[in-house]
Amino acid sequence: MISVDSAQTIILNAAQPLGLEVEQVPLYTAIGGLLAHSVESVLDFPHWDNSAMDGYAVRYADVADACEDNPIELEVITEIPAGSVPQGSIRSGQAARILTGSMMPEGADTVVMQEWTTRSGDRLHINQSPPQSGHFVRHQGSFYRSGEPLLRSGLRIGGPEIGVLAAAQCLMVPVFKRLRVGVLSTGDELVLPDQVLQPGQIVDSNQIALLALLSQAGFEAIALGSVKDDRSSLKQAMKDGIDRCDVVISSGGVSVGDYDYVEELLDELGGEVLIRSIAIKPGKPLTFATFPEGKLYFGLPGNPVSALVTFWRFVLPGLRKRSGQTSPWSPLFVTAITHQPLQSDGKRESYLWGTILGSGDDLQFCPAMGSGSSGNLVNLAGSTGLAIIPVGKTMAEPGDLISVMLVSGSP
Ligand code: AMP
Ligand code: MG
Repeated sequence: MISVDSAQTIILNAAQPLGLEVEQVPLYTAIGGLLAHSVESVLDFPHWDNSAMDGYAVRYADVADACEDNPIELEVITEIPAGSVPQGSIRSGQAARILTGSMMPEGADTVVMQEWTTRSGDRLHINQSPPQSGHFVRHQGSFYRSGEPLLRSGLRIGGPEIGVLAAAQCLMVPVFKRLRVGVLSTGDELVLPDQVLQPGQIVDSNQIALLALLSQAGFEAIALGSVKDDRSSLKQAMKDGIDRCDVVISSGGVSVGDYDYVEELLDELGGEVLIRSIAIKPGKPLTFATFPEGKLYFGLPGNPVSALVTFWRFVLPGLRKRSGQTSPWSPLFVTAITHQPLQSDGKRESYLWGTILGSGDDLQFCPAMGSGSSGNLVNLAGSTGLAIIPVGKTMAEPGDLISVMLVSGSP
């Protein structure tokens, strides 16, 4: 049994972004993808000097001494609406009406915000001096200089990135082909959600939940079905999954029961088993193996909470790295206070599910109501965090600060 930290290190070392294919996708469909090259723009951002305010473009030297008692009078010679090119240039004693985002006219170096002025016809009074030359001017190239990397390779494309790509007129976006991740379930007791349950049977909820989490995280999720606890069918299903996918995640069949074949089959199929169990609760029997061409196999425990907790803690970071995403790959951890006692056996790093309340520096963790059994998927629903009790500690007392891992559904 190895520690959680060692397991994370082994998985991240093994999860190398090998053989990733690149495809060009239209900007409108690039959301959720991973940028495969860094993108540059031929334009500076801003493209030209422009105003950060509605106001007046002036020469700083003219208005440096302006104050309420000594307003400076200027002549407004032109107006520059957004989208137009300024006509003429500003000489001493002159100003141009300018709106936010409009191009600065030649001769002017500073914008005085409208609130610091009074105007009557073409006469303008500046009642307050700007603190320095260049005030409220967004200078060409001050956000980005043409030729430098605009967005770096490995970045996950979200809303802001789509906006930047659009602004750079990048109509076709180079992205890594989405990682193919197969999900397999094992167990004689499993049936599909739409089947009539016979005594002793349960629904294969792990497969659906894992497929949904994978799609949500931007991977190509492939349902590999559910196989019986029969050695040869399981071996065939695992082999098919490894052939078809970059990564296979199975659940069940990794404990020490009579029908728990996953680990030995990984050996037989030529995998290098790097992890056989981890000092984590829930999730101890997690199995991890590598195959040629950088393929990965995660054998998760069957208990539904164990499967999801280990998916969040170990699988997702590995998939992020394997798919070409740049770090950070790990989950996010926050510090929160617990108002209720939290217990652990002290032998394994315990993850207790619940919700996080509050904001900023004042976060509170509330454990889920009801049974904390790893078979109880019901109260994992609605959970937003997993409180961590480290090895060697058996208890977090009310008032203690604890580390909480954020999980999907987190605000
Ligand atoms: P196992 O790891 O195969 O011994 O399974 C441990 C527990 O998890 C058993 O109670 C199984 O019935 C349950 N389980 C295994 N696979 C699934 C699954 N795909 N969906 C829901 N529960 C499962
Ligand atoms: Mg089983």
